[in-house]
Amino acid sequence: MANCIFCRIVARQIPSTILFENEKVLAFRDAHPQAPTHILIIPKIHVERLSTLTPDDLPVVGECVRVANLLAEQEGISKTGYRLVANCGEEAGQSVWHVHFHLLGGRRLGWPPG
Ligand code: 5GP
Ligand code: ZN
Repeated sequence: MANCIFCRIVARQIPSTILFENEKVLAFRDAHPQAPTHILIIPKIHVERLSTLTPDDLPVVGECVRVANLLAEQEGISKTGYRLVANCGEEAGQSVWHVHFHLLGGRRLGWPPG
């Protein structure tokens, strides 16, 4: 998707701080971090939102969770705690229309979210 910010990050057309990459997923630091650790984990395939993932896409979701756990370990927040969230749709606050998971941690996170 030529006009998708995250597809452009995958293609290295937009710079980002990449922390992990394999054939399925890419992980990079959020440009506007909301916590000491704020990493985005995305499937390389362009899927607009969680609700448009098909059963065939689900292995990549598992891979995102695996990579999130790995990065949480690397960031030293594995034991203190972290949150993995995906905003789906406008009222949930989704602003980039390419499925992504936020890995947040390094401070006490409020609940419920506003
Ligand atoms: P959403 O609001 O869709 O759940 O999350 C989108 C996230 O992408 C936001 O946290 C925002 O800061 C981040 N973001 C938007 N554009 C860029 C960018 O060009 N580079 C990086 N690294 N993060 C971005
Ligand atoms: Zn995309």
